[in-house]
Amino acid sequence: MPKKVLVVEDNSDCRELVVIHVRRMGYQVIEAATGEEAIRKASEQIPDLIIMDLGLPGMSGAEATVQLKENVTTARIPIVAFTAWEETTHEEKARKAGVEAYLTKPTPSKVFERVIQNILSPHSSTEATSKNSSR
Ligand code: MN
Repeated sequence: MPKKVLVVEDNSDCRELVVIHVRRMGYQVIEAATGEEAIRKASEQIPDLIIMDLGLPGMSGAEATVQLKENVTTARIPIVAFTAWEETTHEEKARKAGVEAYLTKPTPSKVFERVIQNILSPHSSTEATSKNSSR
C-alpha cells in the first residue's frame, strides 16, 4: 500500500503541480484547499504526511497545524510547511505550531523529494549517495 500524502493548498494551479509531483514520487494523494478541509480529511483518512501551505483563506496553515497537533487522531501525522512566505519571519511560528520541516516556494525538486522521503521512509534513502555520484 502506497503511503498517503495530504496536499493542502488554496491555489489550484499550485496544488495541481504539487499533487502531480507527489504522485510521481509514488505516493497516494489527497487534496484540500482550506485548513478546515484539511482537518476534516486528515481526521477521516489519517494521511502519513501533510504538506501544508501557510497562506490559506480563513484559517491559516499554522492554525490548522496547531489544531491537527491538538487532536489525538491527527497529532502524530508529520506536517511539512510549503509556502511562499520567507523563512526569516514565518518559520519559527510554523515550527512552534508543530511543523516538521519548512520549505519555501520555489523549492528545488531534489530538496522537496528528499525532505518528503526522509520523513516517510527515513531508512531507505541511502542508495542515492554512492550510485549517483559517478553520473
Ligand atoms: Mn496559499
